[in-house]
Amino acid sequence: MGKILGIDLGTTNSVVAVYDNGKARILQASPQSNTMPSVVSFGAKGEQSVGAAAVTQQVTNPENTVYSVKRFMGRRLNEVASEERIVPYKLLGKPDDQVKIAVAGRKFTPPQVSAVLLAELRRVAEEELGEVCDRAVITVPAYFNDAQRQATADAGAIAGITVERIINEPTAAALAYGVEHRGARNLAVVDLGGGTFDLSLMKLGDGKFEVLAVHGNTHLGGDDFDQRIIDIVADDFLRTHQIDAREDPMALQRLKQAARDAKGELSFRESVEISVPYIAISPDGPLHLQYNLNRERFEAVCDDLFGEIREACRRVLYDASLPGEAIDEVVMVGGSTRMPRVQTVAMEAFKAEAVNKSTNPDEVVAAGAAILGGILQGDLINVHLMDVTSHGFGVTDARARMETLIPKNTPIPVTVKKTFSTPTDNQRSVSINVLEGEKTKAQDNRALGVFRLSGIPKAPAGVPRIEVSFNIDANGILNVTARDEASGREQQVTISGTGGIDEEEREQLRLEAAAAQEQKAAAEVELSLRNHAERALHTMQGWLQYHGRLIGPKAAQKFEITLLKLQKAIAANKAHHMKQCLKKLDELAELYRKAA
Ligand code: AMP
Repeated sequence: MGKILGIDLGTTNSVVAVYDNGKARILQASPQSNTMPSVVSFGAKGEQSVGAAAVTQQVTNPENTVYSVKRFMGRRLNEVASEERIVPYKLLGKPDDQVKIAVAGRKFTPPQVSAVLLAELRRVAEEELGEVCDRAVITVPAYFNDAQRQATADAGAIAGITVERIINEPTAAALAYGVEHRGARNLAVVDLGGGTFDLSLMKLGDGKFEVLAVHGNTHLGGDDFDQRIIDIVADDFLRTHQIDAREDPMALQRLKQAARDAKGELSFRESVEISVPYIAISPDGPLHLQYNLNRERFEAVCDDLFGEIREACRRVLYDASLPGEAIDEVVMVGGSTRMPRVQTVAMEAFKAEAVNKSTNPDEVVAAGAAILGGILQGDLINVHLMDVTSHGFGVTDARARMETLIPKNTPIPVTVKKTFSTPTDNQRSVSINVLEGEKTKAQDNRALGVFRLSGIPKAPAGVPRIEVSFNIDANGILNVTARDEASGREQQVTISGTGGIDEEEREQLRLEAAAAQEQKAAAEVELSLRNHAERALHTMQGWLQYHGRLIGPKAAQKFEITLLKLQKAIAANKAHHMKQCLKKLDELAELYRKAA
């Protein structure tokens, strides 16, 4: 059996690693980089490009190039208003439905798009390791809710990967950190990536990794800081030229890139020159955008975002009942923690003199996932992980309030049972509203769906006893089962409206994704053949011109005819003919070599 991969499926970048020879090894996503941009581009004929190849399409084909898909995983359309504003591709669906993404004349769910990323990471890993890798540990933000976790598991299944475990990103980071730095200590992990923000407080020691509390915001990440810069410069441009550059998808994409670069530089420099030439056309000719931004102004326009981070630090300490002084080490994870202000906010909150930047913030999460893979495949013993649920779960009570059955920060896996009955005589079924969240009023929480118990034998009100089990597994995913106590019969439980997909749909999508992957592979083979044919044509034409006389006019003529045929085959894109001509060229070259 192949090794279990550790995959950090990030908003901006994704990373794949494996536990090998006693340590986590990051696999190269491309010859140039260990990280793969989480970008997928779709062509009109269904062709897909992934990673760095798709990034090049972001400016030229923005409507059909999907980035930051993680922000839409497990989301309903009415939950992503702020995200919808910043992406150039179209979202579809009814407000209460799972988001769909419209690209290249087709509709894709976010798990389908994520599956393309996962399949590519799997391919990269298989190529490097030389073995089939169809099992993985995939990371998610600790603050991901049930639907977002389920959507991640669906993405794995669509990519043909058995998801052995879903692990929280800060927990994975702590695992990677703790395996290297032994000794008891309390750790705060601050994880700010491209689209999500997570905080975890953990107790480490004796091979134990115990999560004390988590908090976060799955709507906050580097993209939001980029957006603030985009708005400053675009507003300035609008004032000067009366043109809103944000309205043109191509200009917006270039602005976004410039804003992200500027933000990255401001982490190391006090000021930066933002320049986007030819951003728009006016009656007087092309217009160039030029803006000088300093760190002070950048931090001022992002003050509320930094404030959210500060507030979350306070909250997580409160949830863990710990003072800031109790934290021994602050570990920074995710590219956005390079912003100096994020580091000072964390240092102030956790009363630390410095933050730990010794781990590579881009790779530490995948490394932790790979270590968990190592644990699951039995390569690493005496390491114990104890994670918690990042949200509370409960039901709506008779007064329309949330009755919490599993509070936030409860160690997982956990099972809680509750007995329900019927409020009226001879009632054959009851409906139970399952909720996720921490708010008092039921309606202020996220409705996971209505859970309908049917087939209850006729009896006076309050007599039937139906025991319902709420189980949160090690992945942080809720499973509900019910048992009629009188008969001992297990009830069929269906939670409707979760936005998830069933087994049949998952299989269908897996087949579609596999077909797309095959199509992509075939296109790559075709392209490589064409490149090979073009190179052979060019080289042999040159060779014939200078050395043709060495082989005599007859042999040279044979070469010439074959090269002409090859040229035609390339022009007509006829793979079969190209192969025939290449074979013939090889034979002729071989004959000549022998004669010489
Ligand atoms: P991740 O999802 O962990 O790969 O984080 C990606 C995010 O980190 C993106 O929003 C990047 O713009 C951001 N990022 C990367 N480098 C820097 C930097 N030097 N300063 C600020 N943000 C950065």
